[in-house]
This record gives sequence, C-alpha cells and structure tokens, in this order.
Amino acid sequence: MNQEQKRLFDTDPAPWDLDEAEEKCVATVVFSEPPFGPFDYLVPTRLQGRIEAGRRLQAPLGRGNRVVTAYCVSVEFRPTTRRLKEIRTVIDDAALLSPAMLRLTSWIAEQYLCPWGKAIEAVVPAGVRGQAGSREMTFLSVPRNVAAKLTTLKLPPKQQEALERLAASTRAMTPAELADAAHCTMGPIAALRKKGLVDAEVRRVQQGDHEIPSEPPGEKLTLNPAQQAALDAIRRTLDSAKHETLLVHGVTGSGKTEIYIRAIEEVIRFGRQAIVLVPEISLTPQTRQRFRSRFQSVAVLHSRLTPSERHWHWQRIAEGKIEVIVGARSAIFAPTPNLGLIVLDEEHDASFKQDSEPRYHAREVALRRAQEEQIPLVLGSATPALESWQRALSGQFRRIDLPLRVADRPFPLTEAIDLRAEFTHQGSRGAISRPLHNAMRTALEDEGQIILLLNRRGFSTNIQCPACGHVVKCDQCDIALTHHRDGDQAICHYCDYRIPPPPSCPECQFAGIRYGGLGTQRLETEVKARFPDTSCVRMDSDSMQKPGSHEKALASFRAGDVRILLGTQMIAKGLDFPNVTLVGVINADTSLHLPDFRAAERTFQLVTQVAGRTGRGARAGRVLVQTFSPEHPAIQAALQHDYYRFAAGELPIRKEFGYPPFEQVIRLIVRGPIEEQTEQFADLITDRMRARIEDQQFDARVMGPAPAPISRLRGKFRYHALLQGPSGDQLRDVARHAAIDLPVIDELQWIFDVDPTSLL
Ligand code: ADP
Ligand code: ZN
Repeated sequence: MNQEQKRLFDTDPAPWDLDEAEEKCVATVVFSEPPFGPFDYLVPTRLQGRIEAGRRLQAPLGRGNRVVTAYCVSVEFRPTTRRLKEIRTVIDDAALLSPAMLRLTSWIAEQYLCPWGKAIEAVVPAGVRGQAGSREMTFLSVPRNVAAKLTTLKLPPKQQEALERLAASTRAMTPAELADAAHCTMGPIAALRKKGLVDAEVRRVQQGDHEIPSEPPGEKLTLNPAQQAALDAIRRTLDSAKHETLLVHGVTGSGKTEIYIRAIEEVIRFGRQAIVLVPEISLTPQTRQRFRSRFQSVAVLHSRLTPSERHWHWQRIAEGKIEVIVGARSAIFAPTPNLGLIVLDEEHDASFKQDSEPRYHAREVALRRAQEEQIPLVLGSATPALESWQRALSGQFRRIDLPLRVADRPFPLTEAIDLRAEFTHQGSRGAISRPLHNAMRTALEDEGQIILLLNRRGFSTNIQCPACGHVVKCDQCDIALTHHRDGDQAICHYCDYRIPPPPSCPECQFAGIRYGGLGTQRLETEVKARFPDTSCVRMDSDSMQKPGSHEKALASFRAGDVRILLGTQMIAKGLDFPNVTLVGVINADTSLHLPDFRAAERTFQLVTQVAGRTGRGARAGRVLVQTFSPEHPAIQAALQHDYYRFAAGELPIRKEFGYPPFEQVIRLIVRGPIEEQTEQFADLITDRMRARIEDQQFDARVMGPAPAPISRLRGKFRYHALLQGPSGDQLRDVARHAAIDLPVIDELQWIFDVDPTSLL
C-alpha cells in the first residue's frame, strides 16, 4: 500500500491509544469492486490458521452487511482497539497467489493506478476463481463408532446392505456409486444420512483431462558465432543468479528463437521453468510446434482457451509439471513455482499493453517479476521499442546485437514506389502499381510466393458524397463507416454498428455517392482480377473469425497451395516461410499520419517486420513499398533495414517534446453522454492536476483537455489530457490527488492510462 492509500483507508487508532489495545488476529482484505479497500477484519478463533494471504474470504460489507468475496492480503496478530467486523468464511483451501505474486499485484495496482483487487483478478484467471472444470461432489463414509456396531443396528434390509457395502469399501463413495454397489435407490442412502449413520464430506473434483499434444523431437541447430555470443551472455546472467535484462536486437531472420530455446534448455536442466511471451497473433501452430518439439511439457496459453482449460493449465503450472509456458500478455502471471527465465519476443509489440483495467504493460510487469525473482529477462526484437532502446543506451539493459541473418542469407532488396508519381503518370486507380504488378508476375513465374500487406480491412474505407461532402459515419462514434462487400454492409470498426450501404447520399439524396478508399477486400478483388489463375488468401480479422481459420490459411500457404497471402498486420509478424520471394506493402502511410507520437515508430516497425518475411530461405527476397512519402525518415530507415538510423532520428524528437522514453506520460480520458458536461469534468480534473503540480513544485505539465482524436465512441463523448514529466512517481501522485473525492456523476467515467500506447 502506498502512502496515499494508507492515508485514505487506514483508520487504525492513533499511537497514543495503543497501550490499552488488545492483541487480535486481523485480516486485511481488498475487494474487486467498490469500495475496494483495503479494510481490516477480525478473524474469529474458528478460522484462525485457515486464513492466509492470497486466499479468498467472505466478509460483510457496508451498513447492510452484504456478504462479499474478498481477497486476503495479510493476516497478523496486532493490537487494535477498534471494533472490527468478523470474517464469515474462507473460500479457498489454498492460496490462489503466492506471497511473491501478491507483491506483484500490489506493485501493479500502485504503478497503474488501479485498485489492488482488480490487479489480483487480472492475475488469477476467472476459470481458476470459478474452479471451472471441477465439480463439488459428496463422498460418504462410515464413522468408526458406527462400523463397530454394524450388526446390532436393526435397520431395514436395504439400508443395512448399503451400510455394510460402504463400511467394506476401502475408500469413500459418492451416493451414486453406493447405490450402484448396493443395488438400491437413493432412498435408503438418504435415510442413512438422516439417521447420522454415515458421514458426508463435500470435495471439489477436477473433471477430465486436457490433452497436450506432443511433437516429434526437433533438430538441434549449430549456433553461429553471433547466436553463441548471445547465448553465452544469457548464460552468464543465469549463472550469476542475479537479475539482468538483456535486449537482443537481432534483425529479422537472425535466429533469435533458437537462442531463447537454448537458454531455456539451460534453465530446465536446473529444474526451473521459463515463460515465453509472444504477441497473441504469433501463437501460431508453428510457434507451438517449435517449442513442443524441443521440450517435454509446454503449455500454450492463448485467448481461445476455455475457462476449464485455463484452470487445468494453471494447476499443472503451479504443481511444477510444466517446463515452458508460451503465451500472450497474461502468461506473465503463470504461477510457476521456480521461475528461471522470462523471454519477451517481439518486445515492441503493442499487444503487450492491456487496454482495460489494470492497464499494465507485460514488459514492465516482466521486468518487475524478474527483478523480484532475481532471474534474467530477455527482450527480443528486430525493431525494439524506443523505451527499451534508450534503457540499453543508458546501460540499464545489456544489449546484444545480431546484425546478420543466419546462414549468410542476404537482406531482401527493398525499393520505394512513389505513389504520387504513379498517380500522375498512369492515372491508375487500382491498389497495385505497375512496378508491383510486374514484380508479382516475376515472382510467380519463378515459383515464389508473395505477401501483400494492407493495414485496413473492409472493401471501401470511406463513403462520401461528392456533391455535398457528407461522409457516412457511425451513429454512435465519430468514425467513418467502412463498406464490407462480404455481407454487403457499412460497418463501424469501433462499435460494430451496421447499416445497409446507402445507395444515395443520406444528407442531400445525390445519387452518385462515392465508395472510396482501399481495404483488404478490395485488394483481394483486384489481385484475383489481375492473377485469375493464382490462388490467393486474405487474412484479416473478418476472414479469420472461425476458430482454426488462421491456422488453416497459414498451413495452405506453407504447403504452397496458396501463392499469394494478403492481409492486415496479422501477416506481418513472426511468420517464417522460406519460399516467400516478394513482399508488397500496398500503402506504407496508413499509420504514418495518425495523431500519436508513436506514429513514425509504428510505421517503421510494421514495414520492417513485413519486409522481414521474405528472403528467409535459400532464395533471395524483394520488398516493394508503395508510399506517398518515400522521403519520410521512418520509411527510409525501414527500406534500409537500419534501426540505428531510425532511432538516431526519432529519439531527439521525443526528447524535444518530452515524450517517452525521456519523460513519462499518463493519459486522462473522460467519457460522458453530454459533451459540455464531459468537457467540464475533464477541466475539473486537469485543474486539480495543475494545482497539485504547482503546490508541490513538481517538474510536470498537463496538456489539454481536448476532444480525443476519436471524439465520440459508442455514444459517449471523449475528452483527453496528457500529464507529462520525467518522474513517473510524481505523475502518479498528481493523478491520485486529482482523483480524490471526485463527484460521482451518472454515466460519466474517467480513467488514467499510465504509459499509454494509444492516444486515439
Ligand atoms: P528470428 O526470430 O530472429 O526472425 P528465427 O529464430 O525465426 O529468426 O530463425 C529464422 C530461421 O533460421 C528459422 O527457420 C530457423 O530454424 C533458422 N535458424 C536459426 N538458427 C540457425 C542456425 N544456427 N543455423 C541454421 N539455421 C538457423
Ligand atoms: Zn461506432
């Protein structure tokens, strides 16, 4: 608990009261809903010894003493004069969180300005809390005193037989088992229970087993010198038994995964476990297979697991039966008993940040956990986040460079295609320029495969009236609707509002309303028209909705049945297909001009990553990048595979404007149904922030409030403000102070997003 929370919640007696205070067993608990606590409760004698930190309890709350589930965060005997309410019952037979994990949740609550109970619920999956996949069952047995006088009871024959059967059994039986064994109905058994002749005990039993498929053992590659040097560095850290963060900056195809695998082998040899975090989208069969072919027991945690599968995995991990956990963001909370190593692959990926409370970043949580457990953290990327890069420059992280691809594979040849010139020269209205078309034809003739990236889904990305200028927008959001040809609907990509595509302008009724803008569906149509005999698959969140469709598409591309794979950023990450000889970026500028200080970084990462999908086999690769801004430094750097150049150009800009990695940011978002009220509330909070900064003479400043770039979402107006400054602790102090006793207004919500990754 931080000082502020203490001040707010601690109602302990003043020190001068203490001499009269009596030693009592006190449990401190938090709730996952308001009022969040922490609150102190008295532990009645009957529950002493059964309560420990990390278990759930039932505690009475408020005037009405409504009984609510609470998380115990500490128990101790201490003097207290206060009259405390009593804990009612204990829910869990064992702690759901170890002391170390409990400390981690407390840190998350503190760091990300969220209630402790919410942080705990992020760590313990719902399936574990609900004990999904397990069932309460009653087990019957015969008490010893009854067994001793079994023949003297004078019971009806059916009851007598059932009782004798049970007494003869070597283990407790369920009522159904007993009825079966004694050839009777439930009636006689119920009668025995009523008479108190049998003991009944309720136990939780795990139902069924989930299979973890095994893979044939994979080949062990001989590391090249750069890989070996990287592995040696990780090994030295492992041997030192101290924490260190190693940033493996390896170009695409430099063999980073093989380094992770070797390091993990080392960890497992010492009976410890490893966690490997990857972006959700990279949890492909290929990733799974790569780890399963090298380790005995690998748990793959992805978002499509059922609650009962999650519970099952959690238990096996906690029992130490799993060597390697591969998973998305939340796998950082895997309850490994003896963690030896954490790896974050593609550490720059935005999916490591959670966009609901607690808004944690898995990289920061991993860093904290690795520090606590005194183990190495390995971050890997071809395009490290500037936050990580700066920490490497400052010596906080150890940097390991892998500047070359494995097996002397060359970098792909990259070229920019200036769309401005294409437009004027050819008057082409399609998505594919002539040079790209020609390159595609050549690649196909040479039996190669092609990846085309377009980071926009749908068919037409805007519907606009050329007569009056009206843009068809969502009813609920300040977002233009996208026309989807599959299903023929105009859809809001933020709230899924759908209407039939208007045949004329809804404002002025002009019949010539225009469907413009390029989405993946339109690109697919164009590719099929240009290359009618070539099989092509589109991969975006629309076409990949059915479970397994992602896997299926990738498998047919791997097998060579599909020659052209086109899609959104889904196809840019982590895929390793040796036969891809051409990558085309349809429009590199889609994210370049977004109102977000990371726009250039995102563009650089996306283009570099997708370019890295080619030239991974024996054959050389080629990359064509279509853009309206070929001279933009981010695009130039991506074309030259030059991270150093990108970082050197971008860091001074971040410094100048006081953005990360040089300063910290906390974003305030206020949403409400009435615009004026929303703005006023944002004003109120930012005024308080400024007052606190002034009062404490902090080195911090507030930008805004202003309407957020997405100014209306799901019917709510949105205002935002940025709190910036070099000290995260000071910023948190300011935010906390601004939030104290804010008026509660119906339907008006506000959040703080610490280290935001999106400013939209
Ligand atoms: P990265 O993650 O850096 O993009 P990968 O780990 O996916 O690179 O490796 C790229 C390809 O090179 C993979 O097919 C992998 O099996 C292969 N590879 C990795 N290390 C070696 C090596 N030492 N010798 C030969 N091939 C290797
Ligand atoms: Zn909408």
